[in-house]
Amino acid sequence: METTLAIIKPDAVARRVAGQILQRIEEAGFQIRAMRLVRLTRAEAEGFYAVHRARPFFGSLTTFMSEGPVVVLALQAPDAIGKWRALMGATDPAKAEPGTIRRDLGTSIERNATHGSDAPATAAFEVGYFFPGIELA
Ligand code: ATP
Ligand code: MG
Repeated sequence: METTLAIIKPDAVARRVAGQILQRIEEAGFQIRAMRLVRLTRAEAEGFYAVHRARPFFGSLTTFMSEGPVVVLALQAPDAIGKWRALMGATDPAKAEPGTIRRDLGTSIERNATHGSDAPATAAFEVGYFFPGIELA
């Protein structure tokens, strides 16, 4: 069993497709271990995406991620990290496979509906970033 951190980004929450995304998560067989609705400050978004701080899109990305509420989830399944990234599809919705969340619900390479951890070490950091010191359900 593996746990990954998923975020339903501000674009998807604002467009009222969070429920659709949660349904896809449940139908794919993930167990939801923890879930919160939270509005990130700019500083919190910068801390979360610190690995990208040298990228040209860092300012725009952290402004976007703090523009409205997000739904943050800890998802558990066998190979949860890869399984969730496959369900999301490629970063750029235009390049994502048909039927993936980003292809169906994302609108640009930045406003791409969801986030997923990319490796066990980042998943551990990211789950701890949002769910520190609490028992996961
Ligand atoms: P995430 O980490 O959000 O799951 P990812 O791992 O597919 O996405 P990363 O390379 O980690 O992609 O980029 C983090 C986020 O930064 C992307 O999801 C997207 O919102 C934004 N982003 C990535 N590349 C660009 C770009 N070229 N221009 C604008 N925003 C971008
Ligand atoms: Mg990433």
